[in-house]
Amino acid sequence: MLKGIAASEGIGIGKVVTIRQQEITYVQRTVADAQKEVDALHKGIEKFMARTEKLAEQMEQSVNPKEAEIIRGHMAMLADPFMVSQMDDMIKNDSMCAEAAAESVLNMFKMMFESAEDELTKQRATDVEDVKTRLLKIMLGIEEADLKTLPPNTVLVVNDLTPSMTAELNKDNIAAIVTESGGMTSHSAILSRALEIPAALSVLHATETLKDSSTVIVDGSTGKVINEPTADQMAEYEKKREAFFAEKERLKTYIGKETLTADGDKREVFCNIGNPKDGIQAKQRDGEGVGLFRTEFLFMDRDSMPGEEEQYEAYVKVCKTLENKTVIIRTLDVGGDKEIPYMNLAKEENPFLGFRAVRYCLQNPEEYKLQLRALIRANNDTSGNLWIMVPMIASIAEFAAVKSLVVELAEELNMPVPKVGTMVETPAAFIMADKLAQHCDFFSIGTNDLTQYIMCADRGNNNVAYLYKTYDPAVLRALKQIIEKGKEAGIPVGMCGEAAADPLLIPLLISFGLTEFSVSPTSVLKTRAEIARWSLADADEIANTVVDMETADQVYEYLAAKVK
Ligand code: PEP
Ligand code: MG
Repeated sequence: MLKGIAASEGIGIGKVVTIRQQEITYVQRTVADAQKEVDALHKGIEKFMARTEKLAEQMEQSVNPKEAEIIRGHMAMLADPFMVSQMDDMIKNDSMCAEAAAESVLNMFKMMFESAEDELTKQRATDVEDVKTRLLKIMLGIEEADLKTLPPNTVLVVNDLTPSMTAELNKDNIAAIVTESGGMTSHSAILSRALEIPAALSVLHATETLKDSSTVIVDGSTGKVINEPTADQMAEYEKKREAFFAEKERLKTYIGKETLTADGDKREVFCNIGNPKDGIQAKQRDGEGVGLFRTEFLFMDRDSMPGEEEQYEAYVKVCKTLENKTVIIRTLDVGGDKEIPYMNLAKEENPFLGFRAVRYCLQNPEEYKLQLRALIRANNDTSGNLWIMVPMIASIAEFAAVKSLVVELAEELNMPVPKVGTMVETPAAFIMADKLAQHCDFFSIGTNDLTQYIMCADRGNNNVAYLYKTYDPAVLRALKQIIEKGKEAGIPVGMCGEAAADPLLIPLLISFGLTEFSVSPTSVLKTRAEIARWSLADADEIANTVVDMETADQVYEYLAAKVK
């Protein structure tokens, strides 16, 4: 049995398909028979064309026509006789092997695009890189499974699940996900929970140990991965799978109910979403609002930024879906572990401490204004319940700068100024919470980042996972103070980090006074049911004991026993 991090609950039983990010290596040979090499190159290109056309057709049907266009652009590149004749010449004149000729010509084109002045041409470099990788893989016979056409009951085993890979998955065919990296709050975890696919992450050597086509059980609630289970194990886990579905049915009794503590104190359960379609899920799952729309997902899986109109339409769609409910939309949180290739952010030594989120946006005001304008307009044209949220605020000056941009743009547009609030996810924002609250319309605590910054432990690094714990009293004391300072200033305080859905932490958050718990749509009913278990007096007793503890392990053991 293998063990990883339990990242998305449920039991998945199926057959392994491993996706390896293979390195492209080949030996540069001097060729004697140039014609044979030219033929090999042309055969590779032919195969590339056929496969790409098939992919484009599939994309047209299952994804969206725009993606198909990008892929057809790749075909046009290799159909260019000038480019191909340069490759031929290198083989004939310099005795290069086919792979080396293709690589050097495509590298040349890539460099040419990279040095262009305008952004659009620059972005073509990414396309050339893509063409190069895929062509070389074809020529070298490196096969990679196509994520869109995975067979039913696939247990997907990957090194890491990137947001763009997730976008390609046909969710109905994936029984479970196993990765070799990533923690509870990594994007692989968040995405698998959003898709309701059981997942075990950071399973060491999974891509080597789990063989393609073997049968595997994944318990996403414990992180256990059972390779080639016995008949008894199969029976046991099939039973567990049934129990899991039965619990899901029980939770349905909370649909349409208010979120109340056991003694009737009102709270709210909102949803975290990544695109307008998730808004539909938030509504279906009975979310009382949207507490976090991660807009960076609108910027991913494409080759240029969405313009003002496209963003406006996405924001309007969510607000309309949620009708009169509050929709908190976070401005672009690029950087850290969220890469958007065409934005060409420089590689940094410490990306989580670097040029990310609001820092990038304030340095690129023209881009930022597009987003802010789209948000102000969407608020104006819907029910007026769109709130703007700023990520990674580390100083009041940054928040003030965003606020004045919003006010200036709203005046220009002659529209009302939406509520503007901040994520509290940096130690600086927590320490200055009393002052910061004077400037903000609301707080939302981002425990995923706040935990890593307080504990100085990268949220995606397994070697320091023993420190990355929201149960640490250092983090819990911060949460208590942030909520208190927000309440003293009279502003609503929510939480959109993953801790908001943790049943062990719910009594503490109730006691600290958190009013809005923003969780993935799939966790709404469970969170509502957990809140309903606690009276204020019981929650206070637990909270008072916990904040006096010394270590995360003490806190965890105590809570695990109390919350059972
Ligand atoms: C957080 O940091 O808690 C948060 C909600 O933001 P993200 O996970 O997108 O960084
Ligand atoms: Mg964050």
